[in-house]
Amino acid sequence: MKLRLFFSVILASLMLLCPLSAVAASGGDTVSVEPIKPNNPGFIKGMDVSSVISLENAGVTFKNRDGEEEDLLKILADNGVNTIRVRVWNDPYTADGRSYGGGNSDLNTAVQIGRRAARYGMKLMVDFHYSDFWADPGKQTVPKAWQGLSLDEKARLLYDFTLSSLLTLRGEGADIRMVQVGNETNGGIAGEWERGGMAKLFNAGAKAVRDFDPNVLVALHFTNPEREGMVKYLADFLNEYAVDYDVYATSYYPYWHGSLANLTNVLGYVAETYGKYVMVAETSYANTLADTDGHDNTVREQSNSSGENLLWQFNCQGQADEVRAVMNAVNIVGEKGLGVCYWEGAWITAGDTTGKTGAELEERYSQNKALWEQYGCGWAASAASEYDPNDAGRYYGGSAVDNQAFFDAQGRALPSLRVFLEATVLYGDANGDGRVDINDATAVQKHIARLITLGGERLEAADIDRSGRVNINDATDIQRMIAGIL
Ligand code: CA
Repeated sequence: MKLRLFFSVILASLMLLCPLSAVAASGGDTVSVEPIKPNNPGFIKGMDVSSVISLENAGVTFKNRDGEEEDLLKILADNGVNTIRVRVWNDPYTADGRSYGGGNSDLNTAVQIGRRAARYGMKLMVDFHYSDFWADPGKQTVPKAWQGLSLDEKARLLYDFTLSSLLTLRGEGADIRMVQVGNETNGGIAGEWERGGMAKLFNAGAKAVRDFDPNVLVALHFTNPEREGMVKYLADFLNEYAVDYDVYATSYYPYWHGSLANLTNVLGYVAETYGKYVMVAETSYANTLADTDGHDNTVREQSNSSGENLLWQFNCQGQADEVRAVMNAVNIVGEKGLGVCYWEGAWITAGDTTGKTGAELEERYSQNKALWEQYGCGWAASAASEYDPNDAGRYYGGSAVDNQAFFDAQGRALPSLRVFLEATVLYGDANGDGRVDINDATAVQKHIARLITLGGERLEAADIDRSGRVNINDATDIQRMIAGIL
């Protein structure tokens, strides 16, 4: 009760402050987080941007912190994102070619995103839903083309679809690091709800990834880490049914998914008991409770906006704090803590409704609805009702997460995006400019010659071999990093 009252007061204050902080957030505001030291050298600082192509088709552009228009993927890379996650639906269209929306997330869309991610040096994490539309614990609807097939036939088609999609993605330039066999598959996958059937489909997908490239990691993705015994149950089941995988990935939305201490604890069980990598494949946090497209947000005033797990403010600093905290919770699992991927961090509005009222608001809203229908840039278009009548068929519309993006309603990067650069120590960045280049080697040499003194984070970053001392070996390592040898 006390807690609820406390949050009501906070909420009331936020409602008053929101318009102001939104203005400040798109200006010269900054955020600050304490960097963590990744225990895994390949620590993933990822972002899912599956809706980006549909948004661009609808006219949305993205700008860097200076307000200059740039490729979204470049902006993300420049801000420390090292992995892009992209969902793949089998066939998100009606027979006459109308899109279900949700970013038109078919293979062709994934190809475009994967190619652009690779152009800016980022790896791709491919998220197969094995459905024609959204898959989550409540929905694992079998693709239309697989309906009525036996389990064996389904497994064969799942294998073929996985392998051929991966070959296409790589052939078109994607740099694939990890593949998710299913999305939030706690109780089912592709219409199979029985454990033996699920295990068979998991293994069919895993085999396709192994045959594609044995160096690519196989991830399985679940949710509800807060439920008593859930993670243990799933990891034990995968072991019992001899499911082949490398990474246990979970969703972690702090509004619903328990404490960070519990997250570390349950992921630690999987890492220690079964030697698997663990990661958070989806998380997000609101930087405001305001909506900008006329479609209600998941996190909004008087909904999911109070509770004991909301440790951070709904502003840019709070959003950065959440990302840093989730990264830390995964990292302290140890070397098996592989990283964190933020979900749909660029799913902004197709047309800003901020400040509009009455007829003006109605007009903008109906324009947005037309964009969602035409370009598929909302969470669902009306055409999805044939496949998902009870949810998409009733509630289709725009973005429910525009207030959890790292971009404002005009597409300009928010200061919180910097968290991907600043949440982890960048080894080799001795001068602290966010890059590793020849100036860092020079800084280390000057430090060794006692011309300058590196301290604190800079000393930490310069100690590349983690010997506890900064010496000529670290300067050499920086040169090897620049040359791409290390
Ligand atoms: Ca919205």
